[in-house]
This record gives sequence, C-alpha cells and structure tokens, in this order.
Amino acid sequence: MSRQMNRVRCLVLNAALGPLDYKVPDGMRVELGQVVECPLGPRTVVGIVWEAERLPGTDVPAEKLRNLRGLYPIPPLPAPLRRLIEWTADYYVASLASVARMALSSGGALKGPASITEYRLSGGMPERLTPQRQAAMEALEGEQATIRELAGIAGVSEGVLRGLVNQGVLEPVEVDCDRPYDEARPDFAQIELSDQQREAAGIFSEAVRAEKFAPFLLDGVTGSGKTETYFEPVAEALRMGRQVLVLLPEIALTENFLHRFEERFGTAPVLWHSSLKSTERRRAWRSVSSGEAQVVVGARSALFLPFANLGLIVVDEAHETSFKQEDGVRYNARDVAVMRAHFEQFPIILASATPALESLQMAESGIYAKVELPSRFGGAQLPGIDIVDLTEEKPPQGMWLAQRVVDGIAERLERGEQSLLFLNRRGYAPLTLCRHCGFRFQCPNCTAWLVEHRFTRRLACHHCGHATPSPAACPECGEPDCLVACGPGVERIADEVAERLPEARVFVATSDTLNSPGRAAEFIAAVEAKEIDVIVGTQLVTKGFHFPELTLVGVVDADLGLEGGDLRAGERTYQQVAQVAGRAGRGSKPGEVLIQTRHPEANVIAALAAGDRDAFYSAETEMRRDAGAPPFGRWASIIVSSEDETEAREAARRIGDTRPDVPDCMILGPAPAPMSLLRGRYRYRLLMNARRSVQLQDVIRQWLGRLDHPPGVRVAVDVDPYSFV
Ligand code: ADP
Ligand code: ZN
Repeated sequence: MSRQMNRVRCLVLNAALGPLDYKVPDGMRVELGQVVECPLGPRTVVGIVWEAERLPGTDVPAEKLRNLRGLYPIPPLPAPLRRLIEWTADYYVASLASVARMALSSGGALKGPASITEYRLSGGMPERLTPQRQAAMEALEGEQATIRELAGIAGVSEGVLRGLVNQGVLEPVEVDCDRPYDEARPDFAQIELSDQQREAAGIFSEAVRAEKFAPFLLDGVTGSGKTETYFEPVAEALRMGRQVLVLLPEIALTENFLHRFEERFGTAPVLWHSSLKSTERRRAWRSVSSGEAQVVVGARSALFLPFANLGLIVVDEAHETSFKQEDGVRYNARDVAVMRAHFEQFPIILASATPALESLQMAESGIYAKVELPSRFGGAQLPGIDIVDLTEEKPPQGMWLAQRVVDGIAERLERGEQSLLFLNRRGYAPLTLCRHCGFRFQCPNCTAWLVEHRFTRRLACHHCGHATPSPAACPECGEPDCLVACGPGVERIADEVAERLPEARVFVATSDTLNSPGRAAEFIAAVEAKEIDVIVGTQLVTKGFHFPELTLVGVVDADLGLEGGDLRAGERTYQQVAQVAGRAGRGSKPGEVLIQTRHPEANVIAALAAGDRDAFYSAETEMRRDAGAPPFGRWASIIVSSEDETEAREAARRIGDTRPDVPDCMILGPAPAPMSLLRGRYRYRLLMNARRSVQLQDVIRQWLGRLDHPPGVRVAVDVDPYSFV
C-alpha cells in the first residue's frame, strides 16, 4: 500500500451498524483488509478496513472522527476474500457483517500469539478414589485440554478436576497455541494410478500449474477412486507451495479420508469444523492465515477461512445437501467455493458419483469441464440392482423386510459376508400413538411427531432436541400399556433382523451411535474385523465407506424420500439410493442391491433398476425446465417467523401486501410453512419464482428494505433454497 491512509472506512462486525469511519492515529499504519479495534461508545468492536468507494456511508467531517484503537496482530484479509464476502452478501441477501464474521471465525486467533495451560493425567492416584473421580479419570484417559474442556469430556464440575490437579493426578502442560503442524509431503507415497485415473489427474495437475480459474466436475462412479485421483493435484499444489482446501459434507465421516490422506502424504491434514476446541480452532485459523497450513479438510464453514495462498479447492460428494447452510447466512458452500476459485484464480474440483443436476447442467453448457471415471478401480463391478415390489412380496405382519431381503442376508451370513440395510430414519418408530384414545405424541415446539428411541428409552424431536422419557401410560387417557409404535426406524429394523436371523450380529449406524470421530473409527474397525454382519444405517452410511466384504445392500423404503414432494425429491432419492448401492461389492466379490418399493413404476425407481442415470437426469431436467425451476429459473423463499403466532402472521401479511409487481417474477404466499411451528417459532413463507433475467436479489432487497417489523419478528431470505419445510 503506497498511499498512507489517515482516515479509513470500516466494516464492523455488527449487522445493525452501517460502515463507520475512523481516524488513523499518528504512527499507526493500516492497510486495506486490516482487522482493527474500532471504538464505539464505551466499547470496542472488531472492524475490517474496507475500500471506502465499495462501502457507501455517510461522510462524517474529519474533526468528528474518533481514532482507531489498535490493530489485531493478524494479516489483513486479502482483496479477493473481501470480494468473496461482498459477493456472498449480495447474492444471498445477507449483511456484509454476518458474512465477514464467518471469515473471522476464531475470536482467540485475533489476540495474537499465546500459550495456554492444558492438563493431562500424570499417572498418579488420588488419596481417595471416589467413584466419581474414578469415572472422571477413565474418561480422561489419553486426553489433554483445558480444565473447562476436560470437565466437559468427563461430565464433572471443574471443581472436581481442580481437586485432582491439587493432588497431582492431573499435571499441567504449557502449550504454544500456534505450534506448527507436521509437514505434508507431496511425494511421501506415490500410488500407481489406473490409466483413466492418471489421465484425469493429469488434467487437474496441469490446471493447478496454470494458476487460473478452472472449474471441473469429476464425475466418477462409486468406487472409481475419485479420492486417489484428486490427491494428485493436491500433491501438485503442495509442490508449488500453495494451500489446498478439501470440503467434505459430513465431518463425522472424515475418519476414512484422514487415514488415506495420511498414507499418501505422511501426516494428517489440518481439520476445521464446528466442534473443534477453541485452542484447535485458533491454531488452525492462524496457520491458515499465515500460509503455513498446507491442506485443510473441513465442513462448509472452512470455505471462508482467510487462506494466504490458496491454490486448489476440492468439494467431495459435491451433490450433498449438507453443503447448504440452513440458518444465519443461507449460502451453498459448493456454489460459493466456485466463486472463491474465480476471485482467487485457481482450479476447483467438484467430485461426485451422482452430481447435482445444476452441476451437470453447468458441464453441459461448457462452463464446467467434465472429467469422467466411468469404471470402478481394480476391475470391481458395479452391483446388480433388483426391485422388491412390496405390494406383491409383502413382509409378514408387523415387519418391514420382504422375505427375499432376509434370505439375501442369510446367504451372506453363511458365506461370512456383510449386509447393509438403509433407512433414513433414526430411532425406533417415527410416531407413537395411544391405541385406546388415539393420542399422538407431538413436539410442543415443532410441527412434528416425537420419535421413539428405544436405546435411550425416550421420545425425541429431531428438529429441536426436545425429549421426554417414554411414559408407561397414555398422558391423555391414562390407560397403561396402550402405546403403539407406528412405522419403522433403524432401531426397529435392527430388532427385526435380530428376530428373524438370531445369529446375525447387527449394528445400528446413525448420528446417535457414531457421534464422534472415535466412535466412527471403532465402527469401521469392527466392520473390517468382521465383528458386524448387518449394518442398519441412515444416510450417514451412504457415502465414504469402503467395506470389501459388504456384498448386499437393502433399501428398506425407497419411497420415503418421495413423500414430501418438493421438486428435488426425485433427484435426492436417486442420489441416496445410488450412493448406498455404491457401498456394495467394492472388493473382489460382486455386490447385489435390493430396493423395496411400493411404486416400482416411478421414474426414479425404474431408472435405478435399469442403471440408466442419463435417462433419469434428462427426464428430471425436462421437468425442471417446465417448472421454471433451477437451473432454468430462479427460486427464493422468504420465511417470516415469531414466537407469537399473530405477530408472525401479521408481518407475513404486510410483506405479502407490499409485494412488488415485477415482470417474469411470480410471488406465492404468504402461507403457513409446512413446519408451521419450528423450535418454538411460528412460521409463514413466501416463495418467489423468476426467470434468470430477473435481478431477484435487488427486488428482494428493495421490497423488504422498506418494511419495519416488531423486534420479535425474523425475516429470513433463502436464495436457491433446498429446504421447503
Ligand atoms: P470413490 O470415492 O470414487 O467411490 P474411492 O476413492 O473410495 O472411490 O476408491 C475406492 C477404493 O479403491 C478405495 O479403497 C481406494 O483406496 C482404492 N483405490 C482407488 N484407486 C486406487 C489406486 N490407484 N491404487 C490403489 N487403490 C486404489
Ligand atoms: Zn421439536
């Protein structure tokens, strides 16, 4: 920066405030992007020095300006990241402050270098070994963290642990918060790629060397070795000294990825996700911004990290809907990642076996380059897919699996092979009712039934976390032993397998049972050691896992995803079933897939059975084109909510009454949202459908910007929505 600024405009991290101008005190040097301490009344708020011309504000006379208080000891946010923040705020109709906050996502990191005291077991014993102390010590085996974090891990008060510190059972360790990570080595272990993999890897590596924006769709069947293939451009970026970001949809599933990464590069990558400890978070953040972190593997929030020198992004399982954030800034990390690659001029790889229709369309129109891996690695065959028509092959009364599926599992048992049953429903039963009076258990905070969980003997809401112990009698009529479970969840399917095949060792794999990386690792080890015969799992097991002895996949209810009936229902069902089918027969033994359905004639089921992906996608594409749905038209939804039902309805009505009249833009609603009560808030929604030529965001901003609402009302805009509840 040649010109020394003596007054600056700052974006402050408070969405309620506009940009603020400050004076730069003598002797302080600031640059664009610098993160600064801004005085605001008696307080100090975090601000980012921004281009004044890009951030219109009121021109306060110079003599009225207050001095900046100081600089945070971190590198300035680079210009392309500032452009990305602007683009995201603009596109998703969010405030700049709320997007910028995602980049400055570690409060600790702003404070500069530091060391902290962590504690670990010393091997000593306490004077008095109470059961509580013993339990705490068992829980802390192998852990090292702050007292507060250890208290969380052990489930005891900090006081209990301080007692153990005083007795020398826990010993202090001084830790440099920013100690460097081990170095990832691009040539640690070369692997021999197949011809098709080598060709694809060559294209990607060349793009990395070119240091230009180049979006790729890596379209490879399940088991084709997409990971091994994109590891090559990752290595190339490392050789060039550039950083790499790999986005994964579900951080619980990174275990297998981390393992493979370590084998290839000699060390684990830097992890980023929402449940990092604050010290891990600041360490990762600072090493990303200094340029030291080489490869970051993260959930969608890693996308806004202030990389100093990013040279490649990979979005793995790019079709996954979990890349879409559903609260705060409602952005789609897959799409914003492409914009980041564009602003910073490097290639991006979207990898999937079942790409989103939007991504395929981008490839179709030549905007993304499509690179294909059409066959499985090592000659493994894609599994054969068969339909089980439940209207003809009826499961026995009160059961959910057709005899053919049970026979299939029994065959695998005899051969010492494994089976996977897929049902995207956690718990035992999705609905519990009273046989006597018809009472149904409903969540008090949400428009949703309570789901019975037998493992934990509770009825729980999957939307807000509300839970109560399963009662013995009906709370309405008081009749004992009259509650019946309706419909199956994974726990109930597991019970059924145990009943019909008593010798089978069954494991339920869901976010309830695989809720930590450690649990996930144990599960993988148990499957690999053949301690599990039948896995019953939710969407968590549809991706990433590679079990060579797993040769049968049963889809318990392929119609489930089609019920809600939003426009993406068919596509999602296709992706889910194709992904879970892709778990079968990945080793040398061929796989078989059985799909239970009541609608074998439905488009998506027929396409799955015929293995005709192209036919499915082209029918879907036509349907979307007719409906003016993305990518052919544009959607946005506006969700109005309040804890007060009348207030929500009134606010929604006011918004509806002032709707603008824009050509080629249809505005539907307001209507109560399908989930008209969610986490204690009443919800109304409006849906917009426009041609691509309409400047939808401008329309929304002008429209909503004119209206004021009571403080309890929240108005959320969702551009390119995925959720329609
Ligand atoms: P995908 O992600 O495309 O479903 P994976 O990347 O999981 O496929 O690869 C499938 C399996 O094949 C994995 O166990 C992987 O380690 C193995 N594999 C793929 N390519 C190679 C290779 N070139 N050399 C050795 N093993 C490979
Ligand atoms: Zn609820």
